[in-house]
Amino acid sequence: MKRFIIITITILVLVSLGVASYMTKRFNTSSALFRSSDETISVVATFYPLGHFAEQVGGDAVTVTVITPSGVEPHDYAATPHDIATILQADLFLRNGQGLDPWADQITSTEFINQSAISITMTDQVQLRKDVDAALDPHIWLDPVLAQDQIALIRDALIQLDPNKAASYQAKADSYINSLAELDRQFSIGLTNCRVRTIVTAHDAFGYLGERYTIGLLPVAGLSPEATPSAKTLADISSQIQAHRINYIFAEPLVQTQFADVIAEQTNATVLVLNPLEGLTAEEVTAGKNYLTVMTENLNNLRLAMDCQ
Ligand SMILES: [Zn+2]
Repeated sequence: MKRFIIITITILVLVSLGVASYMTKRFNTSSALFRSSDETISVVATFYPLGHFAEQVGGDAVTVTVITPSGVEPHDYAATPHDIATILQADLFLRNGQGLDPWADQITSTEFINQSAISITMTDQVQLRKDVDAALDPHIWLDPVLAQDQIALIRDALIQLDPNKAASYQAKADSYINSLAELDRQFSIGLTNCRVRTIVTAHDAFGYLGERYTIGLLPVAGLSPEATPSAKTLADISSQIQAHRINYIFAEPLVQTQFADVIAEQTNATVLVLNPLEGLTAEEVTAGKNYLTVMTENLNNLRLAMDCQ
């Protein structure tokens, strides 16, 4: 009997805790009327660029959690049960979709609707390009123009969740969209007069950037970095390097460089970094690097590799 009472009490406590937690969640997410002015919006992003964009738009009014750890490729990451719990507690969940963060596929939109949170899959919002094998390309954040649309989507979601701070979200979004428009202008001007218009990259991450600024791409791996190139692919790229008189080839910080090194040795090319910003390393974070600074470094290395005036 005593055991029965203890079990009953335990169940009652767990149920009431669950209800309290559910009610807190409802009040946090469903109605701006119940949100106090010092309460922050919880944003969870699957990988670095979306977390960074949310910080730029939300400022002090948001708390941002990025699921993919620094220094890890999101293509290869596997979410933990703790990650899933974090995502389900979010007011706003941001993911890229289309194979970039496939481990987030298990988070259904139904769960978010039930909790009145907002979930945005960025690749659902744009017309996607296809690679040579007709696979849809997820790397939309690397186009500074498409990135502006992502800022607008994040702005609108934050205003919906927290209309009292609409003016602040609007102003911060405008400011960051201006920075991205200036970045786009720098790429357009900086990549206009170049001797070389074809680049060799580690994985096929720069398709949108290439379409925007008219750069031909020779990716060593496919849309996902772990694909191992065939001997034929490596030989084809080496002959293209000679045909286009390419002096530099690109590697990525989060991907092994052995293929770039092999090709560089065969062709006397020099290896430079072109960073797809799928995540920053701890060193890059400590050094104060961010989306805009890394994209500017990318532009400088592109200008060197493409022999631009
Ligand atoms: Zn990628």
